[in-house]
Amino acid sequence: MDFTFTESQRMFRESIREFLEKEIAPLVDEQEKKGPMDRDEALEIMRRFRKIGVGFDVESMSDMGSDPTCIAIMAEEMFRVWPAAAGLIGLSFPAALINVASDDMRERLLPRLLRNEIIGCYAITEPEAGSDNRAMRTTAVLDGDCYRVNGTKTWITNAPVADLCMLVANDEKGERIFLLVEREKSPYEVSGLHKLGWRAAPTGEIFFQDCLVPLENNVMSMVAAAMTGPRLKELLGSDFDPSRLANSRFAKMMGSLAPENVIFAFLRSGMALAAAGIAQAALDAAVSYARERKQFGKPIGRMQLIQEKLYNMQALTVASRLMGYWAFQLAVNADPQARMASSLAKGFACEAAVQVASEAIQVHGGIGLSDEYPLERYFRDARMLTIPDGTTEIQKLVVGRELLGKGFSAYA
Ligand SMILES: Cc1cc2nc3c(=O)[nH]c(=O)nc-3n(C[C@H](O)[C@H](O)[C@H](O)COP(=O)(O)OP(=O)(O)OC[C@H]3O[C@@H](n4cnc5c(N)ncnc54)[C@H](O)[C@@H]3O)c2cc1C
Repeated sequence: MDFTFTESQRMFRESIREFLEKEIAPLVDEQEKKGPMDRDEALEIMRRFRKIGVGFDVESMSDMGSDPTCIAIMAEEMFRVWPAAAGLIGLSFPAALINVASDDMRERLLPRLLRNEIIGCYAITEPEAGSDNRAMRTTAVLDGDCYRVNGTKTWITNAPVADLCMLVANDEKGERIFLLVEREKSPYEVSGLHKLGWRAAPTGEIFFQDCLVPLENNVMSMVAAAMTGPRLKELLGSDFDPSRLANSRFAKMMGSLAPENVIFAFLRSGMALAAAGIAQAALDAAVSYARERKQFGKPIGRMQLIQEKLYNMQALTVASRLMGYWAFQLAVNADPQARMASSLAKGFACEAAVQVASEAIQVHGGIGLSDEYPLERYFRDARMLTIPDGTTEIQKLVVGRELLGKGFSAYA
């Protein structure tokens, strides 16, 4: 078993670090103080990421996908520097569907996708359906050649600035469907939400009132049509053998888990790495302050109680990172353990990041609480992690259910 990055993964991590330090870090303080970024500010960030090949067009995705560990590295490194930018890019994943959309949508949106100017969001949570998303009330009912959508979604990352929303709703039979809603063609209302951390990240509520969404925007049929039709060769190259895809481990995972649980396996392992990223930033700050700050005639780093704090912070950060990469790898390999592992990692690492950020403030004494230093932001940003993509309590219940078996679900 090898716990080290390959040479090319190490180089990737170094180049992404350099990019983040040079191009992104200088924007953080001002934007975090100003509040949620507007569309132009968000697009400017996306354009900067485009320069290093981060995007949802086929070429960028296949470059990143050639070694999926690079995606996990991105999650960790982006959160280390700026969670708001990470959310903007990560939750834009519905933009990838433009590649397999109808000719009409592709014609309109592909040029913008290629310039990395499409912002996406993923909407499942509702005011009455948070942890219990089966209580969802949003409906998408057939109406001629459209779905008529009614309902409210809340706490949706990117909602105020998004062009495309991957919406989860109930159809007229009460079955769950996924629709790609294009805001310009199928208008809906949005209002912003303010929050403790990730202050620059636009988050909001979405109100669908008789919103008409073309039938062809049903995500499952969109993906099925692309995977069986001629577009597959266009997307994956003329040498690609379609039976490879049908027999792939990923196809099997899609067949054995509900689609939202496949999405969650990736989101949750990504969140564990996000937590490791914030924890690392807080730990680095604590180590360098412990070397410099002198009390009682010596650096505080020479005090045993400070070293104990650093030990605890290091243990939590390393454990979070290892669990995060382990869970991500299981998800990439469509391993049956992926659901359990991603919940275990998310639950552990997000709570750990809160502890690490809090101890980093303690090491800094009074200035740890000042907004002149990033420590209070690390703490606020870490505190955000334990709620989205399933609260810590829900991760514990998922692990319990996966360990004990179906009959033991504590939340069904
Ligand atoms: C910053 C942020 C970004 C988000 N982004 C998105 C997004 O992009 N898309 C999206 O769809 N959603 C998003 N969410 C929503 C998020 O997924 C929900 O907030 C989360 O699932 C919890 O739902 P809730 O807030 O309604 O809390 P509730 O479900 O009401 O939970 C309240 C409390 O009860 C506990 N609880 C609930 N059920 C149980 C149980 N069975 N046993 C024990 N304890 C329980 C919870 O753990 C929690 O402590 C985001 C949330 C935040 C804060």
